[in-house]
Amino acid sequence: MRIEEVKSTTRTQRVAAHSHVKGLGLAEDGTAMEVAAGLVGQEKAREALGVAVELIKTKKMAGRALMLAGAPGTGKTALALALAQELGPKVPFCPMVGSEVFSSEVKKTEVLMENFRRSIGLRIKETKEVYEGEVTELTPEEAENPLGGYGKTVAHVIIGLKTTKGTKQLKLDPSIYEALQKEKVTPGDVIYIEANSGAVKRVGRSDAFATEFDLEAEEYVPLPKGDVHKRKEVVQDVTLHDLDLANAKPQGGQDLVSMMGQMMKSKKTEITEKLRSEINKVVNKYIDQGIAELVPGVLFIDEVHMLDIECFTFLNRALESTLAPIVIFATNRGMCTVRGTEVIAPHGVPVDLLDRLMIIRTMPYALQEIVQILAIRAQTEGIQVEEEAYAYLGEIGVRSTLRYAVQLLTPAKVIVGTNGREVVTKEDVEEIDALFYDAKASAKLLAEQKAGYLQ
Ligand code: ATP
Repeated sequence: MRIEEVKSTTRTQRVAAHSHVKGLGLAEDGTAMEVAAGLVGQEKAREALGVAVELIKTKKMAGRALMLAGAPGTGKTALALALAQELGPKVPFCPMVGSEVFSSEVKKTEVLMENFRRSIGLRIKETKEVYEGEVTELTPEEAENPLGGYGKTVAHVIIGLKTTKGTKQLKLDPSIYEALQKEKVTPGDVIYIEANSGAVKRVGRSDAFATEFDLEAEEYVPLPKGDVHKRKEVVQDVTLHDLDLANAKPQGGQDLVSMMGQMMKSKKTEITEKLRSEINKVVNKYIDQGIAELVPGVLFIDEVHMLDIECFTFLNRALESTLAPIVIFATNRGMCTVRGTEVIAPHGVPVDLLDRLMIIRTMPYALQEIVQILAIRAQTEGIQVEEEAYAYLGEIGVRSTLRYAVQLLTPAKVIVGTNGREVVTKEDVEEIDALFYDAKASAKLLAEQKAGYLQ
């Protein structure tokens, strides 16, 4: 058995905690509804973000960025995600933390660049055509004349395709030929052929196509020409980073993403600046031809004060690029040093970058709001919680952070499950709360028992 690459789930988990957030929850006139679209409170920030959405839609945000300033656990990530959702369906949202740029293997600016490209989407429209036909033996004359790549022998059977317009010889490229050999087709077999703008991309039996093409579906329009059996518009959403990856490690495939890779004839390589600029060229060509549409998403950089001057310089330049996402920074710092310099600046961000920022504050939650958020999260995670337990969790949220309180929900569900019950009670929450320390409690304990720990 082969050991498969283990993919990191950090990114998906980061977004999963906010799965209940569906948008900013604003009314027609732009005012925030108290509880809407999964969001609770934080009305001013939501309204400000609503204005930002308008600016973005009217293309007035170029070269600028947003910054959410507020204490930890005030929903900065949740709000950034909500903004992404307001921009439209399938708009990329890429959350990262400032400290991620520090790695011994990858350059800081490379980490930033990768995340920039993760946040820029491309919607590719392709027309896929499916031919259905029966494998036949070609007539002796046809077989005699396999010119220009028409006709090939497959295990001594020459493949022709019987369609409504008679037998058609297939124009096969070597990979298709190989695929046909694998299928072990013989005359009389029904096979499907996927073509894209007339070029054969894939062949197979119906089951291989059934998942992607509903072969019985009405939506296919039989084309008048008679050759094409079915046709379907497919839309693919990818990010520029997906394209970088697909092209750095071309694996061969039928979709446009991998086709692009093969088109560029790149061998396996690292994602380099050259590769990226090649991809940008192809992407721009597709956009010009109307095949693809750019979908700028949201790059969320939490703890922006962790970035250093080199990163800030990069960001200043990157924000100007035509292929730039909406960047939302977040911080909970006031005045502090800009890393890599001696300069003290608001939020640890150099003044020239600060100049480009629209800053939005997030406020601490009231008990009632925390309880409402907990209720929404519990519902999303399918956890039943009794009233008293909510109240107690709310108090915990006020005492420590909202995040800590929300995080207690899952272990509480585990306890309830092991005890064969359904509803989380106050006692369950107490039990869990006694088992874990929130950051503040842990720090307090460390301070009190300093002598017992290594210094
Ligand atoms: P921050 O970035 O400010 O540290 P965060 O957004 O990363 O915060 P928390 O604020 O700790 O995360 O949020 C904890 C949980 O509460 C998350 O599941 C988040 O989606 C949810 N949450 C936070 N604020 C709100 C809100 N105003 N409405 C609904 N859910 C919220």
